[in-house]
Amino acid sequence: MSVFWNSRTRGLLPYVPGEQPKDRAFIKLNTNENPYPPSPRAVEAMRRLLAGEDGRPAGESLRLYPDPVCAEFREAAARAYGVRPEQVFPANGSDEALAFAFGAFFEGAPSGGDGVQPLLFPDITYSFYPVYARLWGLPFRAVPLREDFSLCVGDYGIPASGAVIANPNAPTGRALPVDGEGGLSSLAAALLERGRVLIVDEAYAAFGAESAVPLIGRFPNLLTVHTLSKSASLAGLRAGFAIGSEELVEGLFRIRDSFNSYTMDRIALAGAAAAVADRAYYDAVNGKVIATRERTAAALAALGFRVLPSQANFLCIRPPEDSGLGGNALFLALRERGILARYFNLPRIRDYLRVSIGTDGDMDAFLAACAAILG
Ligand code: PMP
Repeated sequence: MSVFWNSRTRGLLPYVPGEQPKDRAFIKLNTNENPYPPSPRAVEAMRRLLAGEDGRPAGESLRLYPDPVCAEFREAAARAYGVRPEQVFPANGSDEALAFAFGAFFEGAPSGGDGVQPLLFPDITYSFYPVYARLWGLPFRAVPLREDFSLCVGDYGIPASGAVIANPNAPTGRALPVDGEGGLSSLAAALLERGRVLIVDEAYAAFGAESAVPLIGRFPNLLTVHTLSKSASLAGLRAGFAIGSEELVEGLFRIRDSFNSYTMDRIALAGAAAAVADRAYYDAVNGKVIATRERTAAALAALGFRVLPSQANFLCIRPPEDSGLGGNALFLALRERGILARYFNLPRIRDYLRVSIGTDGDMDAFLAACAAILG
């Protein structure tokens, strides 16, 4: 605490990201990064931007501000997702798109929190959601997942200022269907009737879940949020985007332009535009991640772990009942062996560990360490 902090700063509970260690080489399975390199076309686009072509000095283009409307990137993303560029909001990582969306679409309490319907999201989900809700002063309610960590959209039929669903959910990895009974479209329809927004966070959708983007034409209240950090191997670039009706995108720009008109820099825009266009490369890379996930899940189950069904690039696992190991004990034992996973000291998932999917070699080392720890 500092006397210089105002009451807002004092009241914040910031998100704590997974560690990025520098002291030793770990097999890093703690922040859901992709183990494979980004598209060579994306790397080349960024290299060309920095190299300085046509006799211009290296880095010359950085003298000028980037395009504030991010036209090239939005056109590339629109083409990749079958929408119009006006339906794409460009962001400095999907965290930024989420932060702006919370501020743009959900109702805050004028004073004391009375009389405003809460924002809804699951009790076990991406732990940045409650952080954003508090930052913007939005009352929220955490809706419990079912006993098996599945999400039932029927549980969201209560009065609300909107809802946020990660699909697949994190850190469980479980995904919901888009259409049909119990699908996201029924929730979007229920919220639309009440003039409320549904955010679907698709950070991990490319690893096996259905995307809700095809619903956007039917539901002007639906915003899907996408990142290049996981499925496009570009966590270090900070690039993401949201897709929704033009009115939602315009709302996001209103927030962004009240904050910082240039959230995406020239390098990120060039790399991100080339990456979203290189579907073939990423389908191959993410197909490998999916195959490794399935193999790892089967091997863990054979060791006696409980493995939640995952459509993401991570597994949520609980050590065998008779091992006496809790989530934290397994986390520490793996760390000692040079393997980093993610432990959440939170109710209901304390006995679990989230393990990102690395290369086949990474996962073989992880499985060998698990077998050794279980003795
Ligand atoms: N949504 C979910 C569910 C995530 O797990 C993450 C990564 N921590 C993000 C969004 C944010 O991703 P980024 O800001 O790197 O795009």
